[in-house]
Amino acid sequence: MIIIMLGAPGAGKGTQAARIADAYHIPHISTGDIFRANIKGGTELGKKAKSYMDAGKLVPDELVCDLVADRIAQDDCKDGCILDGFPRTIPQAKSLDEAVAKMGTKVDFAVNVDVPDQVIIDRMSGRRACLKCGATYHVEYKKPKQEGICDVCGSELVLRDDDKPETVKTRLDVYHEQTQPLIDFYEKKGVLLTVDGTQPMDDVFAQIRKGLGD
Ligand code: AMP
Repeated sequence: MIIIMLGAPGAGKGTQAARIADAYHIPHISTGDIFRANIKGGTELGKKAKSYMDAGKLVPDELVCDLVADRIAQDDCKDGCILDGFPRTIPQAKSLDEAVAKMGTKVDFAVNVDVPDQVIIDRMSGRRACLKCGATYHVEYKKPKQEGICDVCGSELVLRDDDKPETVKTRLDVYHEQTQPLIDFYEKKGVLLTVDGTQPMDDVFAQIRKGLGD
């Protein structure tokens, strides 16, 4: 089963994607995490992606599409995968269609985690991330056991550059302009599942499971 996650930055797609991956035993592929790992590792890809990410802009399609096509063709994806953060533009969605068609499969579900902009802005200003292991927290809704310290690896938590208020505003503009059209794109294909992302995390997950036919 190939599932993609749609929704504004900060809608909670990453959290839900991780839970779906666990429940269905399929890999969770986050393009944002792949780029962050490349930045940390100082790779050429990381160097190219960093300036776009820090500015809240999308990394160009040509840096993303082949990377995802290669990743989903790997052996661990033979029973499917969950794509979190890809596609984010219509050309990316078309490129994904081609890649999955070559594999003799298709996108089964596009899960749209729907959250109004103001809720996103409130959430993201309180988000804290561990740059070492990638875990994310929230100063109000998902507190670490010890303030400012990652529960998983004990590193210091920070406000990611791309979660800063001015960047969040740009990311939301980019989302509305370039990613929101994908909702229509997948609705026309009959695979769209929209859930109310303002609900508590467990309820959002329950809506998704129900929609996926569980
Ligand atoms: P995320 O963690 O999914 O919010 O991604 C963080 C940043 O990585 C985004 O703001 C983009 O700059 C970049 N990024 C991640 N996925 C994509 C994608 N599919 N297309 C273009 N840029 C992406």
